[in-house]
Amino acid sequence: MTNTFQGRRGGAGRGGPGGRGRGKGGRAGAARTVAVRRAQPIEREPVTMPSVMSVAEAADLLQTTGVEIIKELMKLGIMANLNQQIDYDTAARVAESLGWETNEQVSEVVQQATADFESRRAEAATDEDAVPRPPVVTIMGHVDHGKTKLLDAVRSANVAEGEAGGITQHIGAYQIETQGRKVTFLDTPGHEAFTAMRARGAQATDIAVLVVAADDGVMPTTREAIAHIRSANVPMVVAINKVDLPAANPERVKQQLSENNVLPEEWGGDVPVVEVSAREKLGLDDLLEVILLVADVNELRANPHKPANGVVIEAKVDRSRGPLATVMVQSGTMNLRDVVVAGATWGRIKAMFDDRGKRIRRAEPSTPVEILGLLDVPQAGDTFQVFDDEKVARALAEQRQAQRRVDALIGDRPVKLTDLYNQVQAGTAAEFRVILKADVQGSLGAIQNALLKLNDDTDQSVQLAIQFAGTGAITESDVSLASATRSIIIGFNVRPDVAAKRAADAAQVDIRFYNIIYNLLDEVRQAMTGLLAPVFQDVTDGYAEVRDTFKLPGGDVVAGLYVLDGKITRNSKARVLRSGTVLNEGGIKSLKRFKDDVREVAAGYECGLGLDNFNDLQVGDQIEFYHREEMARTA
Ligand code: GDP
Repeated sequence: MTNTFQGRRGGAGRGGPGGRGRGKGGRAGAARTVAVRRAQPIEREPVTMPSVMSVAEAADLLQTTGVEIIKELMKLGIMANLNQQIDYDTAARVAESLGWETNEQVSEVVQQATADFESRRAEAATDEDAVPRPPVVTIMGHVDHGKTKLLDAVRSANVAEGEAGGITQHIGAYQIETQGRKVTFLDTPGHEAFTAMRARGAQATDIAVLVVAADDGVMPTTREAIAHIRSANVPMVVAINKVDLPAANPERVKQQLSENNVLPEEWGGDVPVVEVSAREKLGLDDLLEVILLVADVNELRANPHKPANGVVIEAKVDRSRGPLATVMVQSGTMNLRDVVVAGATWGRIKAMFDDRGKRIRRAEPSTPVEILGLLDVPQAGDTFQVFDDEKVARALAEQRQAQRRVDALIGDRPVKLTDLYNQVQAGTAAEFRVILKADVQGSLGAIQNALLKLNDDTDQSVQLAIQFAGTGAITESDVSLASATRSIIIGFNVRPDVAAKRAADAAQVDIRFYNIIYNLLDEVRQAMTGLLAPVFQDVTDGYAEVRDTFKLPGGDVVAGLYVLDGKITRNSKARVLRSGTVLNEGGIKSLKRFKDDVREVAAGYECGLGLDNFNDLQVGDQIEFYHREEMARTA
């Protein structure tokens, strides 16, 4: 089992011309010409640029100043400074606008490894040696509808005698056996994980089981889960749970499902529905049987006779053992001592454990395993692949680390309403995706209809597509769906909670707020017709929570606040939120720390607050502080 360090390096085709600077990672360092700057370039040789470089390095290679590069980057909507890293594609666009042709200088090793990675992923679909593999199942649904209980029930009912008592292991996924066949369950219920993985390009799930409690019916998160499953194009099975309860009403649940475009098979639709009780362990075999049927229909196959690739389910640092990752093999077979690249890290597998904590030496397709030996912690949703050359693995991981730093700056640029305007102007826009949240069902329906009518009214080149519509506060899950489907979020009389706001900032999801339907429709219509006027946008300063209230002698109420996030300034406007619904918007009358008036209060501090013309603050209210800014038009 010795490792061949020679690998597949020799004789591969070259990337750029002339074999320039072959150092580690192909830095742009060595053979740079310090040329005299020419105002009008004549007959230039193409310039060779590395996969990743700083703005300063790009300026050097393109024989111009950093400021010039920064200006060009701004035209592409990228704010960068001299030290910021940019990738080849971005640099090439800048170079082109400055009149240069470019070549990418890719290290041979990385080039080979990347090609290898891509070809193995591509061939998985058409592989002739592929054999049936177990389905991988995710369980989703509203909180308290019994996802966890169902996972536990299925697991404990389907492991070999004697082992059942010993199951305490949690590695993020487990496998059971039924009718002599295996089924893998991802053990992280909830669609956030599901969509987060998909946003990273990983499709880990073959079948989604939507759990709906028979006594409670379809709830907001159920609808969200349906939207997530649909947008991922994953086959769905519905488990109506808690049928043991006297209040259970499975027929009503089916009715509600069909109102949400999930039509049960027995009603002529295409979604199998199974009635179960996780508590009484009823119907579990039926559920598994349906899962196997759906698996058969979808012909899930993989070739076990090759090096493994797959996806990272969970990862963490174990204090005594180092980085520990649960991965799922999607094709090939993973062996002890294999060299693995997972996302932007790599390593040699020192030990592998199955879902019961047992040491194993190999893992076949659809098998979850915990692995030890990676040098760093990968991210959930990262893909992994086995390589037979350690050097190749390291080079690929290093290249990806550099790329990730760049992506953090440039990213997969999120969609903004103003982008849509630009795309319409350029004639490239096709679909305008929206997630719609409103305070009450009545306005939601009205807005939905009015928005869809815009499709008929406006030029057919842009079509509005509502990815999801629901009532209540804007949640983290809305943000993750927006990010995965490249949608913008429209909130009518609702606001994001703190977690959602943070997630939206991190993923740069555009959230637009309205409290007048006319304004909402008008702005969307203008964006769709390419006539978007300059917009004012609320910029959030901070969030605080009411912990206490006091009535002053004059009748005014002041609140004792705890600042959760950001800061409050004396000039901020305050928006009072109760359960995500806006109660009041207005100015600040007083802001105090102890007895003193203050100009601002930062996160983690308490303060006293009085509002202009609003005396109905209650303990538990959240207050969002913001100011208005005119957004620069980007065109
Ligand atoms: P999750 O939030 O969807 O993971 O829900 P849990 O699995 O934590 O279940 C929520 C509650 O419902 C718990 O108190 C469970 O004991 C209960 N529960 C789950 N399944 C059933 C069932 O089939 N019948 C009854 N009666 N209760 C159930």
